[in-house]
Amino acid sequence: MKALVYHGPGMKAWEEHAKPVVIAPSDAIVRVTRTTICGTDLHILKGDLPSCTPGRILGHEGVGVIESVGAAVTAFKAGDHVLISCVTACSKCEYCRRGMFSHCTTGGWILGNTIDGTQAEFVRIPHADTSLYPIPPGADEEALVMLSDILPTGFECGVLNGKVQPGGTVAIIGAGPIGLAALLTAQFYSPGEIIMIDLDDNRLAVAARFGATQTVNSTDGHAVEAVLGLTGGKGVDTAIEAVGLPATFEMCEEIIAPGGVIANIGVHGVKVALHLERLWDRNISITTRLVDTVSTPMLLAVVAARRIDPTLLITHRFTFDHIVEAYDTFANAAATKALKVLIEA
Ligand SMILES: [Zn+2]
Ligand SMILES: [Zn+2]
Repeated sequence: MKALVYHGPGMKAWEEHAKPVVIAPSDAIVRVTRTTICGTDLHILKGDLPSCTPGRILGHEGVGVIESVGAAVTAFKAGDHVLISCVTACSKCEYCRRGMFSHCTTGGWILGNTIDGTQAEFVRIPHADTSLYPIPPGADEEALVMLSDILPTGFECGVLNGKVQPGGTVAIIGAGPIGLAALLTAQFYSPGEIIMIDLDDNRLAVAARFGATQTVNSTDGHAVEAVLGLTGGKGVDTAIEAVGLPATFEMCEEIIAPGGVIANIGVHGVKVALHLERLWDRNISITTRLVDTVSTPMLLAVVAARRIDPTLLITHRFTFDHIVEAYDTFANAAATKALKVLIEA
């Protein structure tokens, strides 16, 4: 089969690779019909994630059709259409029993990280019964690719952890796919204001179409003053960090209102200053989370009911043999206006 293989920082190739086979009885082999590229894949290619070693097939998002299953798989059979979760869950370990699938002792985020991923014609899914979701007949499979990672991530790490409330004020820093996923799912709770902050006017225009009530371009370095101005000097009840840089996290510390929550989503590679000299008496909380994908069944129902349309996030489409071009398009988002790039078999 063909697969997108990581060969060390800055190096990848769409090349011939051995087709995966069932190793454990709980495995399934899935023929990937649609996948996409994540900002995390770009982090890996920069060399930011040493857990992903050269020779690894990248990718942790996608939908497909079951090719074969191990003897212990009971929920799925060959021919079933499935959504692949970015997080693998055994459902039996201490963390899984607490609903913290991201820290599953034999799973978590392993696809395209410590085991081969979904940017390939076939992928092996461990703990298949509890790591795949059935796709109902007639569902829009393009939309469901957005449910492998970005929608549950924006919702769980940003909206749920950030305690978004009806009538509350929310700021989302970073209008990339994850920030926009938080924006779409924050609206489940009818917040009064959703202020979107980014450096890119195109992304801010998209955010306004997706329901942001205010947009702030932070290029001039005065985003904090702008947010305070929009909130009567109080700041916001929920500040969602969807970038992963010290400057954007520290912006959250400056715009959080008393009693508010800073909900971090971003992948941080370097240390960030925590200004307790200003925050110690503000009654705030700071949360971090790796997506658990516990909200996936709910999000599947919401998408099936057409209450949100994740296909709005798809800006470009490629076939597998053009996946390297898809990476170039996704990596140069400022010029290409890319949000999510869909890659089809
Ligand atoms: Zn991802
Ligand atoms: Zn587990």
